Amino acid sequence: MNPFTYERASDLQAALTLGAQSGAKYLGGGTNLVDLMRETIEHPVVVVDVTGLSCAIEEAGDGGLRIGAGVKNTAVAADRRVRDRYPLLSEAILAGASAQIRNMATVGGNLLQRTRCGYFYDDAAHCNKRAPGTGCDAIEGFNRMHAVLGASTACVATHPSDMAVALAALDAVVTVEGRHGARDIALVDFHVLPGETPHIETVLETGELITAITLPPGLTGCSIYRKVRDRASYAFALISVAAVLDVQDGVVKEARIALGGVAHKPWRANAAEAALKDGPATEAAFRAAAQTELVSAQGLRDNAFKIELAQRVITDTLVKLTALQEIR
Ligand SMILES: Cc1cc2nc3c(=O)[nH]c(=O)nc-3n(C[C@H](O)[C@H](O)[C@H](O)COP(=O)(O)OP(=O)(O)OC[C@H]3O[C@@H](n4cnc5c(N)ncnc54)[C@H](O)[C@@H]3O)c2cc1C
Repeated sequence: MNPFTYERASDLQAALTLGAQSGAKYLGGGTNLVDLMRETIEHPVVVVDVTGLSCAIEEAGDGGLRIGAGVKNTAVAADRRVRDRYPLLSEAILAGASAQIRNMATVGGNLLQRTRCGYFYDDAAHCNKRAPGTGCDAIEGFNRMHAVLGASTACVATHPSDMAVALAALDAVVTVEGRHGARDIALVDFHVLPGETPHIETVLETGELITAITLPPGLTGCSIYRKVRDRASYAFALISVAAVLDVQDGVVKEARIALGGVAHKPWRANAAEAALKDGPATEAAFRAAAQTELVSAQGLRDNAFKIELAQRVITDTLVKLTALQEIR
């Protein structure tokens, strides 16, 4: 590990001042950052501990919920308001990592966790994300976990967060603070596709601190988070689906679908949602909508199976949600 200075921020202003220093990195639970520092993939000069800040879950005033960036993943998943009003967020968090890691991990850190691409972690490999301009060994390498949507010739890595996929389906908003004050960013616009600059993963500016996530009020219909993975626990998603479905008299009034494990960012399935709206809530219609979403997908040597798998998981999830709504 490279030498670094540790600073604990006493309040927001102190965090922003410390975080503005060259080579500074914020520290949440450290479950990703510290691993990457040990592997010398990340080498901050100053580590700014923000774990004491923004630790509350509060009513947003309009019926929504505001979750501080410093709240631990376990606390979000267990919160009664989250479980009652946004159950798929709780399900997504509990589908990730292990109880020990969730006890440490924060909301802010979860959003900014780095990819699990093996070539990113291997400093003997070529990786444009770790070392811009060096190439991407994953494209011709072992790429079973990699992206099938929105990838580029520079990077085929996926974003590993489960929580962020649920937040994308929920139309969550990320609040950040920086030199120029606070700004709100839709979760779906927070992470970016790799293009030619895969080392740039979000729209955050240097020194900006995530302070909260806000969930808009009231879900109608039923929701679920489904995660398909190689092991029943403690494994990253091959495909995950966060879905909210409202069916009335056999017609889809609203569908919200986000996918994990398929792209460099949580993938909001806009094409599938548009295909479903005001159409019949049938398995055939769900399958057709899933095909529409995956029409631009491109497989690599080891991951092409994900294209069919994603369609099946979307279809099956919507069938389940329709049945759930019928029995309510
Ligand atoms: C073995 C293992 C298995 C895992 N499995 C899963 C899984 O199945 N699903 C899943 O979703 N995750 C999984 N994870 C990842 C885990 O969820 C993340 O490591 C965790 O959420 C990161 O949160 P943290 O608070 O520890 O972040 P940290 O490690 O502290 O920080 C991560 C990044 O976020 C930045 N950061 C932290 N807080 C802020 C802030 N407020 N503002 C700006 N920047 C900030 C840091 O500078 C750093 O770049 C796994 C991790 C491990 C080790």
